[in-house]
Amino acid sequence: MQEIDLIIVGAGPVGLYAAFYAGMRGLSVAIIESAEVAGGQPQNLYPEKLIYDIAGLPAVTGADLTRNLLEQLAQIPHRLFLGEAVQKLEKTSTGFTITTDQAVRKAKAVLLTTGAGLLTPRKLGVTGEEALEVSGKLSYFITSLQAFKGEKVAVFGGGDSALDWALMLEKVASEVHLIHRRTSFRAHEHTVRRLEDSSIQLHTPYTLSEFTEKGVQLQKVKSDLLTELSVDKILVNYGFLTNQLDLIEGLEVTRNGRVTANRQMRSNIEGLYVAGDASDYEGKVPLMSVGFGEAVLAINAMTQVLTLDHAIRKGHSSSIF
Ligand SMILES: Cc1cc2nc3c(=O)[nH]c(=O)nc-3n(C[C@H](O)[C@H](O)[C@H](O)COP(=O)(O)OP(=O)(O)OC[C@H]3O[C@@H](n4cnc5c(N)ncnc54)[C@H](O)[C@@H]3O)c2cc1C
Repeated sequence: MQEIDLIIVGAGPVGLYAAFYAGMRGLSVAIIESAEVAGGQPQNLYPEKLIYDIAGLPAVTGADLTRNLLEQLAQIPHRLFLGEAVQKLEKTSTGFTITTDQAVRKAKAVLLTTGAGLLTPRKLGVTGEEALEVSGKLSYFITSLQAFKGEKVAVFGGGDSALDWALMLEKVASEVHLIHRRTSFRAHEHTVRRLEDSSIQLHTPYTLSEFTEKGVQLQKVKSDLLTELSVDKILVNYGFLTNQLDLIEGLEVTRNGRVTANRQMRSNIEGLYVAGDASDYEGKVPLMSVGFGEAVLAINAMTQVLTLDHAIRKGHSSSIF
């Protein structure tokens, strides 16, 4: 079995970009992804949602961002193993043994870009939810905006995702209602301003009390006041529960299950790095722009450690590519 320089676990946006950057720095690289398609959360959870905070791209959908990342990656030699879940990592004298559900591989260094791990949407917890989910009336993310064309939609949630989706839906749906249990929203100021200027009907502070034949019944927080809303579709955006696999013994993780990283994105295990949503440190923000920067820090640090004649200071310009 040939040992390569770097194996990246997870082909989300950060893993894909990290692989490209590693290739640019002269490392031999392979990526292992458990899903059948590369792209992580933007590709699988919000392929049609517009993303506004990627440097140099005024607005890009999750699917287009994935396409761009794959196109960028195609410029360097690499191997991408899809549909293969990494189950265990073991430290060896020269690097790591990586055991997947299909093979055993070896690498001098490993970069974890496993994101939030296996994602499960946080549910409303109201009777009848599962049946509505099966019937297609209730969903936790949107894979096709067209499915909401001309429909009356109730969006539950008060974070960036809920607001982004409500604003996207406004363009295709006949009515959009946003229901949040607080009077203020936990979203970017710019997004909140766009919401205030939109035609979206706000219901705050309200929660769902029950599903009705025509839609939903809402209850005002700390009050008995009930109000009926007639809607065709329900979108729940209460975030996701995550399940990180316990990949290696002795790995230091924080309370929320993310891997503790130092300033060079190294974990407490030598040769094992982390970037993107899987990482944690003081001030961590789980956004892609941050994850892309973390990938660069990790690759530059490991390139130096692997003593491949690429000093860290050489990483100042992509012209070496
Ligand atoms: C609805 C929504 C909207 C968002 N909007 C924005 C936005 O506008 N701007 C922004 O910057 N961020 C946004 N985010 C956050 C952004 O999607 C994440 O920060 C980003 O996806 C993190 O990228 P990542 O590569 O670290 O992880 P992920 O995208 O989670 O990818 C991790 C990959 O690792 C794979 N994996 C996990 N475990 C294993 C294993 N054991 N073996 C093999 N593969 C494995 C997973 O299958 C997945 O493909 C949004 C998130 C959501 C949910």
